[in-house]
Amino acid sequence: MDEHGRDNRARVNFIKRLLVSSVVIIIPVLIILCIFLVINNIALRKEITDLKIKSEGSGYDGGYDETSGVYSVSDISVKGSGTTDNDGIDTYGDGIKRIYLTFDDGPGANTDDILDILKENDVKATFFVVGRNDEHSLEMYKRIVDEGHTLGLHSYSHKYNEIYASIDAFADDIRSLQELLYETTGVWPRFYRFPGGSSTTTSVTPISDLIDYLNEQDIVYFDWNIVSGDAVDNPPDKDTIVKNCLRGIDKYDECVILMHDLTEKRSTVEALRILIPKLLEMEDVEILPITDDTIPVQHVPAQSIIND
Ligand SMILES: [Zn+2]
Repeated sequence: MDEHGRDNRARVNFIKRLLVSSVVIIIPVLIILCIFLVINNIALRKEITDLKIKSEGSGYDGGYDETSGVYSVSDISVKGSGTTDNDGIDTYGDGIKRIYLTFDDGPGANTDDILDILKENDVKATFFVVGRNDEHSLEMYKRIVDEGHTLGLHSYSHKYNEIYASIDAFADDIRSLQELLYETTGVWPRFYRFPGGSSTTTSVTPISDLIDYLNEQDIVYFDWNIVSGDAVDNPPDKDTIVKNCLRGIDKYDECVILMHDLTEKRSTVEALRILIPKLLEMEDVEILPITDDTIPVQHVPAQSIIND
């Protein structure tokens, strides 16, 4: 082998070593970069979810939360005079701010506690209940009525794919709930809250047809213009719920607040202990149950962009 050959081989070996060492350096760098990107991605996703929950909960910024199927009111128009803005409109012409606490999805493990708090504060509310046959639930329907609260309908099954399948299915569902409640309490309920609200887009039957049906049956439906924020899977703490409600209340002179009477919504119960006394301290504020005198707060279905 001559001088030239040795030089060549040395050069080739050098390049080989260079390549190997580059690979040895580059691969760990790529791995670290990947890990960094994955972590970053997870953090960003979490941030997006938090923001969604926040905007849903505030009742101010507008927004939709997929898990809960609930949206804030600023995305939708609300029928009923004076409820859509804060320009000094006095809905009832008497300068009184009317607040309606409404509880969906009960009865359940918290109903007794909610009723206790209402009783302690001498305040009446509205319960949009679902159909349940167990002894405790029947007891709760009775207690709601006996203590002067409004017993409203929220569908028997609460299964969107069933109740919204057709007008007949919708009618059957309401009828069975009305019958259950009438047999249990002697009250024939005539106020309804659509699961998902009247602006839900999950219904394969046009909501306007279902509204026509309700009108025929002399049933009035109520949506809400304030969200407490407790609809999400991991409900916020009691202070956040109170804050959400107060911000909404500041905005309207007729306030229909959406809350939930579900086992996992304990912070809602705790929030009530703070919220109600605060409201009672305010001037020109009344907390009322929904009655025939209440101007319905209704979402305008055509405006909805919600998929729940
Ligand atoms: Zn519901």
